[in-house]
Amino acid sequence: MKNFYEMTETELLSKYKLKAADSFKSKFDLFIFDHWLENKGSIDSTIINSLYFDKYMIREESINYYTSYYWQICEDEILTNNKTMKETRDALDDFKKTNKEKILELKQYYIQNFFKVFTFEEFKNLVYVPKENYKCFYCNISIEIINNLIDKGKIFKKQDTRGFTLEIDRIRPNEEYKKDNCVLCCYWCNNAKTDEFSGSEFKRIGKIIEEVWKSRNN
Ligand SMILES: [Zn+2]
Repeated sequence: MKNFYEMTETELLSKYKLKAADSFKSKFDLFIFDHWLENKGSIDSTIINSLYFDKYMIREESINYYTSYYWQICEDEILTNNKTMKETRDALDDFKKTNKEKILELKQYYIQNFFKVFTFEEFKNLVYVPKENYKCFYCNISIEIINNLIDKGKIFKKQDTRGFTLEIDRIRPNEEYKKDNCVLCCYWCNNAKTDEFSGSEFKRIGKIIEEVWKSRNN
């Protein structure tokens, strides 16, 4: 797999589009969930339009409710709209199935207009950094050191497709990919950070990981 700085413009563009699609998913899941709560447990399919979707802003309270409450509770626990978690999951799944085409259309619209959220230039500025600055935001490991450690057999590269290259991490994983929410990071930090740690918390953990890499490399 190539590092971003080795990619052609076309390859970068296709990566950018993948991030747009991931952003859509994050925003859409919260959008529909918020609507389900506010609309007292029913979903009005007319909200699947670009005007509503453009206007919808992801709020921290929604993310918190969705990730730290909804995904953690048991099936029969009740949400703020008096529906159980099970009813909620079934209704949202059903809605997504019956409105598949409309949702796909909205997704295409979002991807085409993704530059309003994160321009391709901003994306390139993030990933297209010179080799000497091509380092993990959290643990500071460079591609050179990763390759050194792999050659020395001092690091376990889990999969063929991950490890040699840096990845894009969303500092706040439930928000869209955008300039102030993205950093380059290594596979190991990305994997360890999960959705649990905030960017600043993981920056502290990254300092320890950095020490470990250094001692392995010496
Ligand atoms: Zn790292």
